[in-house]
Amino acid sequence: MSKYIFVTGGVVSSVGKGIVVASIGRLLKSRGISVSVQKLDPYLNVDPGTMSPYQHGEVFVTQDGAETDLDLGHYERFIDVDLTSASNVTSGQIYSAVIAGERRGDFLGGTIQVVPHVTNEIKRRMREVAELSGAEVVIVEVGGTVGDIEGQPFLEAIRQMRNEVGRDNVLYIHVTFLPHIATTGELKTKPTQHSVNELRRIGIQPDAVLCRADFEISQGIKDKISLFCDVDKKAVVPLVTAETIYEVPLMLEDAGLGDWVAERLGLGATVAILDDWRTMVSKLKAPKEPVTVALVGKYVELRDAYYSVREALCHAGLHHDRRVDIQWVRSEDLENGASLDVLKSAQGVIVPGGFGYRGIEGMIVAARYARQKGIPYLGLCLGMQVLVIEFGRYAFDNELANSTEFDPKTPYPVIDLLPEQQEVTEMGGTMRLGTYPCHLVPGSRAALAYGDTVVYERHRHRFEFNNNFREQLGQKGLMPSGLSPDNRLVEIVEVKDHPWMVACQFHPEFRSRPNRPHPLFASFVGAAKETLVEGTQVTLPLT
Ligand code: GLN
Repeated sequence: MSKYIFVTGGVVSSVGKGIVVASIGRLLKSRGISVSVQKLDPYLNVDPGTMSPYQHGEVFVTQDGAETDLDLGHYERFIDVDLTSASNVTSGQIYSAVIAGERRGDFLGGTIQVVPHVTNEIKRRMREVAELSGAEVVIVEVGGTVGDIEGQPFLEAIRQMRNEVGRDNVLYIHVTFLPHIATTGELKTKPTQHSVNELRRIGIQPDAVLCRADFEISQGIKDKISLFCDVDKKAVVPLVTAETIYEVPLMLEDAGLGDWVAERLGLGATVAILDDWRTMVSKLKAPKEPVTVALVGKYVELRDAYYSVREALCHAGLHHDRRVDIQWVRSEDLENGASLDVLKSAQGVIVPGGFGYRGIEGMIVAARYARQKGIPYLGLCLGMQVLVIEFGRYAFDNELANSTEFDPKTPYPVIDLLPEQQEVTEMGGTMRLGTYPCHLVPGSRAALAYGDTVVYERHRHRFEFNNNFREQLGQKGLMPSGLSPDNRLVEIVEVKDHPWMVACQFHPEFRSRPNRPHPLFASFVGAAKETLVEGTQVTLPLT
């Protein structure tokens, strides 16, 4: 039977709870203990797939096609596991399931209540992750902050779990924040005390308190938290803001958290093998020559909107012993000539995924610049569609070439709705989602980058390369280099005679790991690092 670690947050949000959960997972995995993870999100949406990036940041797609919270990205990157839809549970899913059960007559005669019906459904989902993964330890993160109204059923459910799986098989870890008062130069513990009191009020006494702070935490402060919160001295763990998120597992290990968790859960005295991780972090922190990459997107002011892309670039940089400096370019700015200088100073251009027409013309400006100047270009999902639109405009000498997502009446619909999407009316969870195989064309840049013939990548889109234009665009130099096994869908395209212009309909960023960069990102950064800032100025047969 699996053991459980429940992680809650207090004081403020954004203290890095997801990174803590991912880090604890890494510490256990490094001890040879199998781990799975689950995020409980208290909002009423069924999943974040329909939410704006302003609300939610990136939507992380699992291999089985679930649209999930970006914390799952941290879990996958730190623990190096492929999670499934069972790892992200929302109030929307819980209530939908309970109400569907009520309509079916599952509870005939009963009054349906938060306790026990909603809490039972939450506990069933927690056990499901344990059963499906067979992991020795399941780490469950409760989203939000203690005291939130909508989080209460989740906290009640994790409280009930203690009796059901046995006290020795459960740990509660509370992550808080110590504010700093500049005038006195002090870190304050009172909000942490209040937050722990709030947890106790619902019957949960935390076993450990992890204190995020922007300054060193003195022994005196730790003792005070131990005393007031009634927590073992060894279990008050400082979490001082790190230079890189990948350092957090090492900080927690060095503070003794890994041993403490293993001992408290009776996992045996195991040794953590973190040598590779330590080497990776010290390489990451060492000074390195930069490679400048312009990331052209609609939401660049929200760095969370492109979290996995940012991490994948960092991993690829590490592989080449370079620091990738991302220049964030608001695509709309390029529409009126602003930010062109940023583009000109970049050694590579990346256009990530997205939806809707706003900013598209600016992305097309970026693709055109990269194509004409021979600057390496990596397009991800929408970034591939943008490349195809730009190429279509060049090939047909017609600025009206477009995707039907942006101009349903375009005379050159080079990107069009997938046939199976024609009948779709509901927006939630209905895109082409999850992992599909892709056959690589031998000798292509993509095949060279992967060193493989068939690859499996994660998708999230409704629109696709229009096969009616495959031949004409091919004649002009836009080569399909990755295809679905039935040849029906173009999954990767590349521009002939260009130093490196490759774009894919899938999202390779979700599969990148710090110690195992994604081949397309690694190849892209490799090409970018060879690029002179003013462009390689190759002579291309292009307008
Ligand atoms: N909007 C495009 C589509 O639906 C691209 C989606 C994406 O970039 N994830 O096909």
